[in-house]
Amino acid sequence: MDFQYEGFRIADGHIIIEMHLPINDEPAPAPATTAHAHATTAPAPTYIEPIEEDLPIVDEPKALIDSLVDRLKNLRTKQQILLPIKKIKNINVEVTISKLNKKFYELSITPLEFRMKNNALLEETVDRMPTDDTEEDFLYRTVRRLLYILKNIKIDKYYGRFVAFQSQEQLAKRALQWTDFYQEFKEDNNIVLTINECCVCFTLTETTTNCGHAVCLECISNLNTATDDDDDDNAEHKDCPMCRQRIFFLQ
Ligand SMILES: [Zn+2]
Ligand SMILES: [Zn+2]
Repeated sequence: MDFQYEGFRIADGHIIIEMHLPINDEPAPAPATTAHAHATTAPAPTYIEPIEEDLPIVDEPKALIDSLVDRLKNLRTKQQILLPIKKIKNINVEVTISKLNKKFYELSITPLEFRMKNNALLEETVDRMPTDDTEEDFLYRTVRRLLYILKNIKIDKYYGRFVAFQSQEQLAKRALQWTDFYQEFKEDNNIVLTINECCVCFTLTETTTNCGHAVCLECISNLNTATDDDDDDNAEHKDCPMCRQRIFFLQ
């Protein structure tokens, strides 16, 4: 291959793969096989075939998947790799893949601007099924699944979490069920509801800010970030759309 995989990031729901073309004064990456060593033109992009039929196809270039598999292969138990994704849905995040043990890997997305109830916006574990898979097959499956999750992330407004496997229709249907529930019980003084209407879009949400205002995660993600000059850390942050206080945590 004539390019080196450098990383990838997510923008508008698409994974943007950052490739690096070595220029003349840089040593070219060592070719993986002798078959490639004498290639004069870059090979056409190759896409990895799905290993299992019931898993969605991730049509990322094979170089990206190979590179991630390679990094996972050299990971020791309880170590993690940090993926070069800086923002998901306009929220500053840290995305890591952790090796819990030989059979489990976990994708974790942690917000950087504010703390969450459980501190992660998404935790998805991929485990090794009791099949005849080699470890290599398992790692390929793991990477494909994690990339699929990253590519298909949606926001569950109600819980204020990222979700991977619900469709927009499923989320809308559940929102309607909550609305019915809310209408039925909001006048009942014997029932304490922790559901509120988001002060921006009026959908029901459990998410409130440190200033006590209900704002759903989607509306938080759509807020512009600000930096205060008098701030010590000068960090990017978002302000409550209701009272303009800085959002430090969501609960
Ligand atoms: Zn909202
Ligand atoms: Zn507020």
